[in-house]
Amino acid sequence: MLSIRLKLVSALMLTCLLFSAIIYIATPHMVKHEMIEGELREKIISYQPEIEDYIQKNITWGTPHSAKLFANSQKNPLKQPNEEKNTLDFALFDDNGNVIIPGAGFKIGDTTKLNDLNDVESFIVAQSTLIHAIAIGNLELSPRQLQSIHALEETLLFSMFAALAVILPLGFIGASRMANALQRLNKAVNRMAAGDLAQQVPVNSEDEVGQLSESFNSMNDQLVKAYNQLEESNTLIAAQAEKMKELSIRDELTGLYNRRFFNREASATQAEAIDVKAPFTLVLGDVDHFKNINDQYSHATGDIVLQKIAEILLREIRSSDLLARYGGEEIVLALPNTDLHEASDIINRIREHIENYPWQEINESLQVTMSFGIAHDYSDKKLEKQLDLADTELYRAKREGRNRVCCSTTQLAHAL
Ligand code: GH3
Ligand code: MG
Ligand code: MG
Repeated sequence: MLSIRLKLVSALMLTCLLFSAIIYIATPHMVKHEMIEGELREKIISYQPEIEDYIQKNITWGTPHSAKLFANSQKNPLKQPNEEKNTLDFALFDDNGNVIIPGAGFKIGDTTKLNDLNDVESFIVAQSTLIHAIAIGNLELSPRQLQSIHALEETLLFSMFAALAVILPLGFIGASRMANALQRLNKAVNRMAAGDLAQQVPVNSEDEVGQLSESFNSMNDQLVKAYNQLEESNTLIAAQAEKMKELSIRDELTGLYNRRFFNREASATQAEAIDVKAPFTLVLGDVDHFKNINDQYSHATGDIVLQKIAEILLREIRSSDLLARYGGEEIVLALPNTDLHEASDIINRIREHIENYPWQEINESLQVTMSFGIAHDYSDKKLEKQLDLADTELYRAKREGRNRVCCSTTQLAHAL
């Protein structure tokens, strides 16, 4: 592929050569033509004194008769057609087309319509008299004239080379500048396409390439701004989506996960545990006599109690455990890789923490305890089954006096 620099320089060189060739060929021809015309003019003007003399002596001019009379009176020595190499022959006419000097096929007494003839030259003689000339044949140029034309050709040739010597380097410099600017633009566009969006190119001229560079820079500025705005709104949308997701899986009062999220996550964790035959324990907890707390100390106090219980639970469980608010004052806890004994120890410790929490800081006579039921069973893959088991144990804990942890002795025996 030809580079733009090479194309521009080639185009410039070809144009220069073409123009030079046209000038070199056409100029000597034009000069030669001018010289021949000058010679003819000189011959024709030589009749001026005779025409003036004839008009002064005679009253009529411009009639076939006056033309014939004038023609017959002429013996101009310049009128020598077919002499030596000079083959130029011409005829002169008055303004009405009557032949006043015969030649070039026109005879004395001929009258012609000047408008019908081609290449008629007109001259004013005797102040206001128009005469017309037509010439055929060729006038050989003198050796001196030929020498002048030759000198002209040499001068033209030299000028052409001198012009080429100046124009070509200048053209090359101009083409290089343009090509470099376009190359910089090209590189900038490629870098943009590769992901490096912010690109600016230098503007070194006011011509079209300079304007293109300027437009590119401002377009790039706008693009970068728009991209940054887009990035910002994307980050905002992602943050909001994350927030929305958090809101959809969390309980508003305690900040714990909600029941829907727990069911989904715990089912997956349980299935995983069953697959790899790892222990998996479920715990249900319920605040004892919570209705009384609400009734005795206010609903707001009840809310604070729920928040404090959530804090205690979160502090005591491991990062792999999954804790959620299961209902009003109920919590649920999934303990992967935890057997019944470990679970019992952990939950008993939590139960003690809740019992020993300084509730009197909230209200002097406030006392809070919690009951728990633990289930640990591989017999069914359904999470609901294990939740039912935990609920049965929780119910037993309530029945047996509250503020305690229950797990079925059969399960315990199995686990042991
Ligand atoms: P038990 O020891 O048998 O569990 O008795 P309880 O009073 O705790 O159980 P019950 O189911 O009778 O009462 C639970 C109460 O919890 C009833 C309900 O008004 C209250 N409750 C549920 N959700 C909230 C809550 O978000 N905030 C407050 N303050 N109270 C709640
Ligand atoms: Mg309850
Ligand atoms: Mg309760």
